[in-house]
Amino acid sequence: MEASLEGPQDERIIRAAESVIDEAVEFTRELIRIPTVNPPGEFYEDGARCIGRWLKGKGFTEEYIAAEGMPEHTAKHPRINVIGRREGARPGKTLHMNGHFDVVPAGRGWTKDPFGAEVSDGKIWGRGTCDMKAGIAAALFAAEALRRADVETGGAIEISGTVDEESGGYAGVAHLCKIGRVTAQNTHFAIIPEPLNVDRICVGHRGVYWFDVVTHGRIAHGSMPYLGHSAIDDMGAILEAIRTELQPELAKRMTKVPVVPELSRRATLNVNTVSGGQVGEDVQSPCVADRAHAIFDRRFLLEEGFDATKAEIQKLLESVAARVPGLRYDLSDRMVVHPTATPENSPVTQSLQAAISRVLRKEAQIIASPGTYDQKHFDRIGHIPHTVAYGPGVLDLAHQPDEWVGIEDLKNSIAVIALAATKLLNA
Ligand SMILES: [Zn+2]
Repeated sequence: MEASLEGPQDERIIRAAESVIDEAVEFTRELIRIPTVNPPGEFYEDGARCIGRWLKGKGFTEEYIAAEGMPEHTAKHPRINVIGRREGARPGKTLHMNGHFDVVPAGRGWTKDPFGAEVSDGKIWGRGTCDMKAGIAAALFAAEALRRADVETGGAIEISGTVDEESGGYAGVAHLCKIGRVTAQNTHFAIIPEPLNVDRICVGHRGVYWFDVVTHGRIAHGSMPYLGHSAIDDMGAILEAIRTELQPELAKRMTKVPVVPELSRRATLNVNTVSGGQVGEDVQSPCVADRAHAIFDRRFLLEEGFDATKAEIQKLLESVAARVPGLRYDLSDRMVVHPTATPENSPVTQSLQAAISRVLRKEAQIIASPGTYDQKHFDRIGHIPHTVAYGPGVLDLAHQPDEWVGIEDLKNSIAVIALAATKLLNA
């Protein structure tokens, strides 16, 4: 059954979304005041309990799941996630909404208290307002708007607050998927209310390949360098080949996935760090460098795939080694994140599109993210392809000083998510 978005029920949902906005603002502020900073992962338990208390008070069951067995789950910095579930009027599909409640450190340059949750100029200010505590509030209050509008749905709504997204999400969403709590067996759709602008739906991200290259030389006296072999010179040759041969090639490749900003539609490679020889500014001895090390960040496209990406790097290194006498190197993988993309015409995308055009009276933009986020775990570990990111907040403000979220955005996203949820659960 195709639920229309122009009927009286939708009016009721939109009015209910408007009526909860003050409470949604207050809840966001409460969450902002808990400085769940990652690293190292502070006050996670308080963050989880704050969300859990809300869920329990609004007809959800609440469940706390610690990342048992994960090395980052320590007595000092426990990794605690929370999930709430509310059953609909009849059996059906499950919509899972997930937000990470960890935030990056405040950093410098603030004119507001980063954890003061000030409200002014129609905005809530503070670290984690847009990325993504307001998003968590949007999910919670969308569910609450449905309850107050007396809207019956089938299936169930689940809402989770998870940790560590900013450091990869392994003790957060990845853990919930790995232990089977959130997988294709029990979850049909997922919405992650990350800040991607309130009229845009994000359908995935590029892949990431971090790798280490170490070059091996031979130590000798610095006054007779010809008796040794410089690992730094060799690393220089590799860096030069990357700059003049590989990077121009990568710049020609464009993905069909609608990544924003547009320049991120290309394949890229960044050198994260280079070190070699004797470390530091302390006393130095005259030595030829016998070791150099660099870490690279290659962002690859869905169309490239990981195997071809790695093979291309191996080939480049081999060609440099073939023309630089004595060059010896090791290549090792540091991290691989595969690209992910929501299937075209996914019901979760379509229901959000319809809801955005109803609430904002404009056409939704379909985009993909330049960096990765927890969608990778829903997709690759949970095998839940019908996952997107949609939430309040301006993408460019994430991780910036004076981060804020617009209250109007928050209100609109509550209405959009509530309408989309109704459509998904009554389909
Ligand atoms: Zn985020």
